[in-house]
Amino acid sequence: MDKILRVNMTDLTTAVEEVPAEWAGLGGRALTSTIVAKEVPPTCHALGPNNKLVFAPGLLSGTAASNSGRLSAGAKSPLTGGIKESNVGGTAAQMFARLGIKALIVEGMPKGEGWYALKVGKDGVTIEEERGLLGLGNFAVIDALQALLGKKTGVIAIGPAGEMKLTSANISVKDPSGKIRSHGRGGLGAVMGSKRIKFIAIDDEGAPGIQLADPEAFKRASRVFTKALMDHPVSGQGLPTYGTNVLVNILHEAGGLPTRNFTHGQFDGHEQICGETMHDTIVARGGKPRHGCHAGCVIQCSQVYHDKEGQYLTSGFEYETIWGLGANCLIAELDDIALADNLMDDLGIDSIETAVAFGVAMEAGLLPWGDGKEVVRILREEIGKGTALGRVIGSGAGAVGRTYGVTRVPVVKNQAIPAYDPRSVKGIGITYCTSPMGADHTAGYTIATNILNVGGQVDPLKKEGQVELSRNLQIATAAIDSTGMCIFIAFPALDIPECLPALIAMINARFGAKLTGEDVTGLGKTVLKLERAFNLAAGLTSADDRLPEFFSSDPVTPHQAVWDFTNEEIDAFWDF
Ligand code: SF4
Repeated sequence: MDKILRVNMTDLTTAVEEVPAEWAGLGGRALTSTIVAKEVPPTCHALGPNNKLVFAPGLLSGTAASNSGRLSAGAKSPLTGGIKESNVGGTAAQMFARLGIKALIVEGMPKGEGWYALKVGKDGVTIEEERGLLGLGNFAVIDALQALLGKKTGVIAIGPAGEMKLTSANISVKDPSGKIRSHGRGGLGAVMGSKRIKFIAIDDEGAPGIQLADPEAFKRASRVFTKALMDHPVSGQGLPTYGTNVLVNILHEAGGLPTRNFTHGQFDGHEQICGETMHDTIVARGGKPRHGCHAGCVIQCSQVYHDKEGQYLTSGFEYETIWGLGANCLIAELDDIALADNLMDDLGIDSIETAVAFGVAMEAGLLPWGDGKEVVRILREEIGKGTALGRVIGSGAGAVGRTYGVTRVPVVKNQAIPAYDPRSVKGIGITYCTSPMGADHTAGYTIATNILNVGGQVDPLKKEGQVELSRNLQIATAAIDSTGMCIFIAFPALDIPECLPALIAMINARFGAKLTGEDVTGLGKTVLKLERAFNLAAGLTSADDRLPEFFSSDPVTPHQAVWDFTNEEIDAFWDF
């Protein structure tokens, strides 16, 4: 029997609750957003006692379905002021699902100055005072907990950035190798820090496990689904070989690789930081070019990157991070970027928000363009030690821009725009504008169709078809984010006719349901609309669904493209 765990940090009590009937068919993002929309007053302070932090595994998490092990976290975001869902791999989602935990809701705020840890297991959740691990980075926290509680213990933690409640702070989740994956965007680590929870340890010993309504039907659908993931050239070849960093050269060629804080669309140093160079470096140094962020991932876009001495430097080394410090900050040295990535994992800080913040800081003259060593120093000595400069950079690109009077600040709803220039890939610009999450490429990844020609072709430089493309992908993504599936299943789902029906068949076989494709689309629409309604009630308006002015006034090379959508055209996104 699934259950809801509720933790009240004001009076330090916990409860195990039945799952309300209206939540029974929900998981992942659909559930976190539903709970936040129902229980969090939209105008509350995101770091105050009335915000709630919700974790929920996806509908298929814990099953043998490939790539289904993602955990959603939701709250009101201290970065955007709107609703936030951020999902992650690692071991926690599958452990929660096996324990029958539909959601963990953390509410309230402790009186006094004490810090706490949560312990989750088959009997529910307990709260314990925590002193020993305060101030430590995520790697030390995971090592200490594994030594204390065993190698198999699941860990959800915040680093020093979360303890300082920086609005770029993320929530880190242990992966199967004892390394880190992140609920990256929107400052959810600051929300966990505001509730003064340093970590959540999970023990799934004695867990009831997952009961499938129709195991045979599940197995049949699962085979078809996995074959589709393996057969598609992007999920079956490109991502497993080069990771997401396969995109550096592709975006450079397309003129959509934001360079020097979104001044140009191409980067002269692209070959030094591209996926092909990264792959060869990893192989030469004895790292791992393929690695899954959770058990059951068959795509394995992640990797383990070693330094020149063959020692671990970082893993989960994503395109968006490499772009952000690489092209965007003109750092053409992979080792510097990898070290910075490791430090950001350890501090528990969003690598997209922070990389874009460094680009704005370089524009402000706070450090030289291309100076990877100074980026590393600032991460260690300023952000890590909580100096005034460190706290400004750690509060994101918008905070740096406001503090230092920079006008070229690439944010939407105060969240940094990631690795695809919206002037030369216009579909993704519509996603940045309209996603209730703020600028978020994963919310409606039009790069698939605009650049990779997956699911058809829509010319990235023309306006025609972009609103519809973004809308359809955002609806589909809101549904996929609710299943616990990794977003990269979208490639085969868009191109291989058997893939989506197999996904729906697995959900039906898991729950004994009779969902149709229309039901799944309906779920995506419902989720998007309730997230939008929360944002409007929180005080955001359609004026927040806009790109910064410079995208309209400053053409970007090589296409001399500008952002040319009218407000009415953008607002038409919501006509569904
Ligand atoms: S494809 Fe990449 S992001 Fe997706 S589950 Fe696998 S390792 Fe994680």
